[in-house]
Amino acid sequence: MTDQTYPPAADIVKNAHIDIATYEKMYEASVSDPDTFWGDEARKRLDWIEPFTKVKDTNFTLGEVSIKWFEDGVLNVAHNCIDRHLATRGDQTAIIFEPDDPETPAQHITYNELHEKVSRMANVLLAQGVMRGDRVIIYLPMIPEAAYAMLACARIGAIHSVVFAGFSPDALANRINDCQAKVVITADTAPRGGKRTALKSNTDAALLHCSDKVRCLVVKHTGDQTTWIEDRDVDVKAMMEQVAPDCPVRPMNAEDPLFILYTSGSTGKPKGVVHSSGGYLLYASITQELTFDYHDGDVFWCGADVGWVTGHTYIIYGPLANGATTLMFEGVPTYPDASRFWQVIDKHKVNQFYTAPTAIRALMGAGTSFVEGHDLSSLKVLGTVGEPINPEAWNWYNDNIGKGKLPIVDTWWQTETGGHMITPLPGATPTKPGSATKPFFGVQPVVLEPTSGEEIHETKTEGVLAIKDSWPGQMRTVYGDHERFEKTYFSDYKGYYFAGDGCRRDEDGYYWITGRVDDVINVSGHRMGTAEVESALVAHSKVAEAAVVGYPHDVKGQGIYCYVTLMNGEEPSDDLKKELRNWVRTEIGPIASPDLIQWAPGLPKTRSGKIMRRILRKIAENDYGALGDTSTLADPSVVDDLIENRMNK
Ligand code: ATP
Ligand code: MG
Repeated sequence: MTDQTYPPAADIVKNAHIDIATYEKMYEASVSDPDTFWGDEARKRLDWIEPFTKVKDTNFTLGEVSIKWFEDGVLNVAHNCIDRHLATRGDQTAIIFEPDDPETPAQHITYNELHEKVSRMANVLLAQGVMRGDRVIIYLPMIPEAAYAMLACARIGAIHSVVFAGFSPDALANRINDCQAKVVITADTAPRGGKRTALKSNTDAALLHCSDKVRCLVVKHTGDQTTWIEDRDVDVKAMMEQVAPDCPVRPMNAEDPLFILYTSGSTGKPKGVVHSSGGYLLYASITQELTFDYHDGDVFWCGADVGWVTGHTYIIYGPLANGATTLMFEGVPTYPDASRFWQVIDKHKVNQFYTAPTAIRALMGAGTSFVEGHDLSSLKVLGTVGEPINPEAWNWYNDNIGKGKLPIVDTWWQTETGGHMITPLPGATPTKPGSATKPFFGVQPVVLEPTSGEEIHETKTEGVLAIKDSWPGQMRTVYGDHERFEKTYFSDYKGYYFAGDGCRRDEDGYYWITGRVDDVINVSGHRMGTAEVESALVAHSKVAEAAVVGYPHDVKGQGIYCYVTLMNGEEPSDDLKKELRNWVRTEIGPIASPDLIQWAPGLPKTRSGKIMRRILRKIAENDYGALGDTSTLADPSVVDDLIENRMNK
């Protein structure tokens, strides 16, 4: 991998909240005395109804795992994201809504308007009998009502669980039942990329498998026809007009759950991750401000969907807690064409932009002509999250979008962590393409020897990534299954939170995520992360995307099986296979030479765009009977094609 280093530019260092010396000083303070560090931050960043007297009370011991922060503090999350801003920024735009169709005008929703909409939505929920602690499923497109619904729950102390609007009725029903939701909030239909998903009829189908008591609140967004079940279905917008425009906030304990969110399902059955009110919000606020070097007045755009944790923390809670203007985009990067992201940045003068490697690779494959002609000069910071970013994609982002001048923050974190864990800070951290760099404040990553679980103290090393102590944004439990929480995260390596990912640490103490531990392959006794081979393949000019897995090999133990998607217009051929093999040999070494290469018109991905390597592994192993949970797969037909064309079947 490339080890080129990009120090932050002088003008960025000058204006940034944090420079390198401050980072080092604050980091040291945050880990040596977390009570003082987080106590100060919590008082500074949040409004408390009752101040906390205790900061941290956490235990990672198997059988006794318990995570509490600010446990006797009382606050309300919606108050912190809306009400407290009204006196100073009531007329400032809180949310810019950019619809799927670029011809439909954007909306600018001020903090005053947000306050009224959220209060009305909260009163609708109260009228439906939703009480403190009740679960509310939100199955909505990326429209302002999704934000209103989340904040309305926070306002009255209900627990929301957002289900991505691309999920099927089955996946929706599983989640409604798992958390025993009282209410589902959905919309008639959802426009996305010029197509419409029938959300209401999906919900009808899902509710056939749920208790009759579940109420269905419908946002009439497009006005498309839907079936209507009297006494169960409620027209939310009409109801919002009838209820009072004000709704007092409910005082909540810092440890009361704010939401449940199911993980992407890349590795198996999704887990109902529970996040807290106080610690989570604090962590959302500090990471949004410092990782993106957000300044008052900036326009912040996180291009994720609110169905993922990234959308929770960096579209809604982080930016709004900080009084920011946050952009909500209903569409997709490739509609009407592959220039949409750049159009939106130009149109709304976006200052910070946050997306995923899967989107960057797709736009890279489409070519740079789509970037040309759009004024991207408002941009100050670029971010990425979701998967290891291949240096090739990093460089493309840097050259074409950042014009070689902007800091790129490659943020490693998880649904479980609530916010960024390992990430550069724009004015402080020299970046290296493909490395998430250094820990955020209060985060103590360690590299463990995979079999013994011993912590490795040498700086330059490789192993599994674990975290030594708690941070405020940490998940508190798996909903309804604390034992699964302990077993999943605390049982493999005693005393640590185990993230499931592998990493290497270089001589500068930089972390390089090598992918999931399950994705490490062992070729003739050499352990390697599949991400490394994938990055080498993607660095070839004809390759758009690649996924690499191991498969049983008589001689080597494991062989290297590569699924390769070519750039638009490139023809697959045996010569090209040879060329790619040689290419990887020279890029990494003969040990990494691909044994089998299969052309893949598409790769199996989760709905959040992550490659599902566990399915590719099964195909490579010729074991199609046991593909496992495929409910979060975006396009199941991709799998059939790959099985059909498997090498050496
Ligand atoms: P499940 O836990 O259900 O298998 P998931 O792990 O895909 O699903 P998420 O919480 O959405 O669920 O994803 C977190 C994972 O994404 C991390 O553990 C890591 O593997 C990967 N990831 C996220 N950001 C980065 C990054 N910047 N670099 C490398 N990997 C990343
Ligand atoms: Mg995970």
